[in-house]
Amino acid sequence: MDRQISAFPEIKVEKVGCNLLVLIIDDDEVDFLSVKRLLIKAFSPDQIEVTWTRDPATVDLVAQLQSHDICFIDQNIGQLSGIDIIRRVTERGNITPMVLLTGVDDQQIDKKASEYGASDYLTKDELTPQLLNRVIRFSLAQKEHAKKLTKLAYTDGLTGLYNRIKFDQSLSFALSTVHRTNTFLALLIIDLDNFKSINDNYGHQAGDKVLADISQRLQRAVRKSDLVARLGGDEFAVIFTCYKHEEDILALKDKILAVFTDPISFEQQSLFCQASIGISVVTPQQSAPSVSEVVREADNALYQIKGQGKNACLFFNPLMRDALAKAADLERALTQAITNNELYLNFQPKVTVSDHKICGAEALLRWRNADGENIAPDTFIPVAERSRCILEIGRWVIEQTCRQMRDWLNQGIQIVPIAVNISPLQIEEQGFAAHILQTLEKYDISPHLLELEITETALMQSLCHVTESLNDLAQLGCRWSIDDFGTGYSSLSRLNVLPITKIKIDRSFIVDIETSKSSQKICNIIIALANTLDLTVVVEGIETLEQLHSLPLSSSDELQGYLFSRPLSAEALVTYLAENK
Ligand code: C2E
Ligand code: MG
Ligand code: MG
Repeated sequence: MDRQISAFPEIKVEKVGCNLLVLIIDDDEVDFLSVKRLLIKAFSPDQIEVTWTRDPATVDLVAQLQSHDICFIDQNIGQLSGIDIIRRVTERGNITPMVLLTGVDDQQIDKKASEYGASDYLTKDELTPQLLNRVIRFSLAQKEHAKKLTKLAYTDGLTGLYNRIKFDQSLSFALSTVHRTNTFLALLIIDLDNFKSINDNYGHQAGDKVLADISQRLQRAVRKSDLVARLGGDEFAVIFTCYKHEEDILALKDKILAVFTDPISFEQQSLFCQASIGISVVTPQQSAPSVSEVVREADNALYQIKGQGKNACLFFNPLMRDALAKAADLERALTQAITNNELYLNFQPKVTVSDHKICGAEALLRWRNADGENIAPDTFIPVAERSRCILEIGRWVIEQTCRQMRDWLNQGIQIVPIAVNISPLQIEEQGFAAHILQTLEKYDISPHLLELEITETALMQSLCHVTESLNDLAQLGCRWSIDDFGTGYSSLSRLNVLPITKIKIDRSFIVDIETSKSSQKICNIIIALANTLDLTVVVEGIETLEQLHSLPLSSSDELQGYLFSRPLSAEALVTYLAENK
């Protein structure tokens, strides 16, 4: 070993005790030997190990590069050109630094070399040990730097888990291996059930601690080869690959559920966090699905199980696939519905108990699609909520209702308050109250003419900041009703503090009120509760006089149902108003 060499800066090889592994790709043995000689001079012989590949077409070059620290590649290798090889391996994900060597200095090649992914470009006659030492050190430092940047781009800062970008890439790769390895893949999408209430009740530091602890537990629950990612907010994903038996996936599911059994400690408190999990399994027998298909399936299962509490988990099954395809078509068509003028409103009158005169109406959304088919709200509203286009649709409903009221007022028609149904996503959206206020002002409509209906389930799940929106609008004069009352879980203490003026008893209790003792009892309790809290009762879905007479209502309560009127077009409502005032 030439002692002079120690004058060169020490090379830092990551793998302690290992040599620097250099690959030389050159079809000319004399050139190879000359580069090798210079390399050995540039470092000490016990620091460096040189491999020679004469014909790169005969080897798996990406794999070979992976097992080396740096590669020197000749520009002319028989029929092949060095830069084309560099381009190809770079496209296949190679990150090992590659230095291009040429016989002559050529500006064109110089330009292309860096474009295609070469870390440097040297002419053979300028090579010296000093130059090689420097080029190698700089290339390796660059690679380390690139690795750090990649890590930053692919990880979530709070939890250290992989982020959505890496998740998408990894799932795509994992899906491509299912057939080749003849194994199962499972994707679990995990959504924390009560995360928002932890944030609201204990603060964001507690929320961060929960996310970090859950992340660590998830990582401990899986194998090294499985991938855990944070998809955003309180949503995580786990990709399990290479399982031979479906039962293995069941065992894994149990391990993941167990992550949520123990409480998380935060400042001497025990925080319990539950999760809902949707699972999609890909088998080698099925045709290869895309990333978005598998995610959609797991999401769909999650959506169905969400909110059932107690660490619920649901496997996507093939029967759901048809429903999902239909929902996807519906979602696509729905995004066009507003611009294509396919949405319109019907208005269903509400009458008073005392004299059956009209005292209000409910705006009900209707959709006649491009093929002229009428699609029921119960079918398309859930789809609109999932795709969040309910936000745009909801704004349209409010705007259209106000515009319609202004139109009636301009015609000198004496109108009644109109109720619109509000989706929980709408009140959670920033600026919801402000948008309503602006719309009322735009059409010069008094707030007491606009009623807002929100379902019991949505209201009770909503958060403190949602209460603000409710209060803001109530202070303006808009009235809130709880729709479909009796189907969710109400907290009496919340009922008392929310700015609610009406309770609408769900139609399901009215349908069988004459025959079902329990429906009758529930209606009686709801009516008694409303009386105590000074709330008006609205009974919806009344179709017969018998149903009406089974209810112990007060004269100021309200009735809605086919017995009085079906939902009407705007014009028909005007006639109804004139006849029923
Ligand atoms: P909802 O708000 O509880 O509306 C009452 C539903 O019961 C309406 O169905 C109405 O047509 C129906 N109905 C009223 N009286 C009777 C009756 O006597 N017998 C029977 N069998 N049905 C009666 P529709 O219009 O199909 O709406 C279904 C649901 O879709 C609504 O339930 C509401 O939750 C939702 N929805 C409708 N329009 C909108 C909207 O603009 N925004 C949002 N977010 N949801 C809406
Ligand atoms: Mg309603
Ligand atoms: Mg209802």
